[in-house]
Amino acid sequence: MQFEINKPLKDFNTFHIDAHAEKFICVDNEKSLIEVLTFAKQSNTSTHFIGGGSNILLTKNIEGITILNQIKGIHIIEENEEFVLVNFSSGENWHECVLWAVSKNYGGVENLSLIPGTIGASPIQNIGAYGVELKDVFHSLEAINLKSFEKKIFTLEECNFGYRDSIFKQHEKGNWFILNVRIKLTKNPVCNIHYGNIKDELLKMKVETPCIQDVSKAVINIRSSKLPNPDEIGNAGSFFKNPIVSLSHFEALKSMYPAIPHFIATNGVKIPAAWLIEKNNWKGFKKGDFGVHKNQALVLVNYNNAKGNDILELSSHIITSVQQTFNITLEREVNIW
Ligand code: FAD
Ligand code: NAP
Repeated sequence: MQFEINKPLKDFNTFHIDAHAEKFICVDNEKSLIEVLTFAKQSNTSTHFIGGGSNILLTKNIEGITILNQIKGIHIIEENEEFVLVNFSSGENWHECVLWAVSKNYGGVENLSLIPGTIGASPIQNIGAYGVELKDVFHSLEAINLKSFEKKIFTLEECNFGYRDSIFKQHEKGNWFILNVRIKLTKNPVCNIHYGNIKDELLKMKVETPCIQDVSKAVINIRSSKLPNPDEIGNAGSFFKNPIVSLSHFEALKSMYPAIPHFIATNGVKIPAAWLIEKNNWKGFKKGDFGVHKNQALVLVNYNNAKGNDILELSSHIITSVQQTFNITLEREVNIW
């Protein structure tokens, strides 16, 4: 077991924050992972996991051991005429797994094309986009308990998935390493094109009867045209969750802002956080090397050499101003380290 000492993490987080890991190691199999975890336990050292680093903001150097997950593998574990149950190892890249499924005409994840990061992080916040969430295709996951090293299968119900949420962000936070995620895909796909501008994009692509390959391509086109590429401008996608407010709160806001965009959700009314931020004039805000993206108010950015704390502080100012104007408390989606 060979640790790299004081390892720069700039290339391992999509914000490209220049923080260092006290000890750093890549693991590509379960046995090596257990060895590292055992060493950490015996030496009373903390551990931190990085997949694609696309949902973290580094505000300091990371003490203890930072483990980069590169455990790979895709295996079909069950199939019949209708479904295929696939085991994806947690270090697989999410988007490459989507492309694999789409190429085999296994439906269910095409709307989740081009989401950065790994399979292992996908259940943590129940990744979602374009009207589909991981929970819609999720079967189960296998995780290792970080104290006992025992393995446990978590069912859909046990994960308690919510909007960008799961037990792994709540009371089981920091207790498990996710090793495998099992996803149930359909062999008779039905395209879901009702969300946002997928239909318009398909029209542009001159597709009248779309298949899942078309939907994946449409989502890739839309995302590539709208979102800043982290390889060009450091960012971690949406910095805040879209808030869900009560119906009475929404009606009060609507009387003041008749054009307020909104979507009825199961537990209230969802308001796009980007609109709330834009209304407070943050869109395009830039100070030194950090700011709010000029086209996407939900995306905070590192233009070059920003510090994690600069971005964290900016997010606090945004939260305060949205609170004052709309009486809505924005919640950060990105994990602060
Ligand atoms: P990391 O950032 O490496 O880790 C995130 C957290 O999960 C950390 O706390 C880490 O310790 C923990 N973790 C990682 N792997 C494991 C594991 N195996 N076991 C236990 N804990 C683990 N998200 C969406 O939901 N929808 C989107 O449409 C979307 N679009 C994005 C677009 C851009 C441009 C970017 C930069 C991000 C976007 N995201 C989106 C956020 C991000 O891609 C997802 O949250 C993704 O699942 C993070 O994966 P990761 O491997 O990069 O996680
Ligand atoms: P958009 O299409 O401009 O819509 C803005 C927001 O309104 C979205 O965030 C979405 O909430 C909500 N919305 C739009 N149409 C909806 C509908 N038919 N039903 C319910 N809610 C609707 O959003 P965008 O920024 O370009 O992103 C497109 C999709 O990619 C969204 O699903 C978004 O969540 C996802 N995305 C996520 C990240 C991330 O880092 N988490 C980054 C980029 C894009 P929802 O977010 O609940 O869908």
